[in-house]
Amino acid sequence: MPCFIAPPDLLAYVIERGDPPEREAALRTIAASAALRAQRQLVGTLMRTLDVDAGQLNLVPTAATGQRTVYDSEHGGRTSLPGKLVRSEGDPPSSDAAVNEAYDGAGATSAFYRDAYGRNSIDGQGLELVSSVHYGVRYENAFWNGVQMVYGDGGGQLFNPGAFTHALDVIAHELTHGVTQYTAGLEYSLQPGALNESFSDVFGVLAKQYAARVEADEAEEKWLIGAGALVPKWGRALRSMKAPGTAWQGDQQPATMDGYVDLPDDNDPSNDNGGVHINSGIPNHAFYLAATAVGGFAWETVGRVWYVTLTDRLDSTAQFADAATATVEVARELFGDGIERAVTDAWTEVGVLS
Ligand SMILES: [Zn+2]
Repeated sequence: MPCFIAPPDLLAYVIERGDPPEREAALRTIAASAALRAQRQLVGTLMRTLDVDAGQLNLVPTAATGQRTVYDSEHGGRTSLPGKLVRSEGDPPSSDAAVNEAYDGAGATSAFYRDAYGRNSIDGQGLELVSSVHYGVRYENAFWNGVQMVYGDGGGQLFNPGAFTHALDVIAHELTHGVTQYTAGLEYSLQPGALNESFSDVFGVLAKQYAARVEADEAEEKWLIGAGALVPKWGRALRSMKAPGTAWQGDQQPATMDGYVDLPDDNDPSNDNGGVHINSGIPNHAFYLAATAVGGFAWETVGRVWYVTLTDRLDSTAQFADAATATVEVARELFGDGIERAVTDAWTEVGVLS
């Protein structure tokens, strides 16, 4: 499944409001992303509908299962992927910080899925985690292309240099698009797309909370995605699950269904595939409300409910109401009344359940 960490509405916003170098950076990033979208969709469709294994497609070199490899794309574009192999599983650290951060972030994300949920890599079957760094020239984005992670350097106009490999929640967000691709396969459009985005944010923050062994409470830094990734001019983070709509200058995420933004799924980047990074604020906030009501380690309770829902209960066209109903059922099956009530109350507060 597709996903860029820089949401298209943010790039569109910068094209509209930025100064000339900022506009140029955002335009260049959108243009490079357009060609990738077709490739991503093809790969996602092949793997889902034909049940093709990513390893058999020979799109990436294969290593032993569950291992990490990092490549340097040496500022090339799509045809340069994956690039030159610079670090394999067990190799000592490189002198290149981006290489080490991509390697460590992939490791922390797969350790989170393994230890918290018993999941063996992205596909559940030990898929090799391939990352390419230094993609493109001052490329202001990072993405999962259906088979591997790809990181630009950030050009300093939108994102701080090095921002994409620096944040574990960004890496875990992107790799979770891979988990979704292999499980629910949520379509990247409208409400199923907003759920796809939201599950990536949920497991992005949970990977971060797990790595730091912190409990869920209302401290906002625990609930920000990509804190400090944007240059300060544009905002403090990409998304806030505690306070959707407040993370960056043009952030239009709603926290509840009253603010649902009805957008078409067309080729206009400001429409964001029908608001997938915008309306994801609603299920994001529901997760935040449930997790903070329950307290403790969120990945052990409400996180587990979301994990079982994503991997076992939803299909590719699921709507918000389907996700809400499924999480309530899973909460009842796994934990009983207390957590079921917190989950029900959370979806009610955001206006998905009544
Ligand atoms: Zn995403």
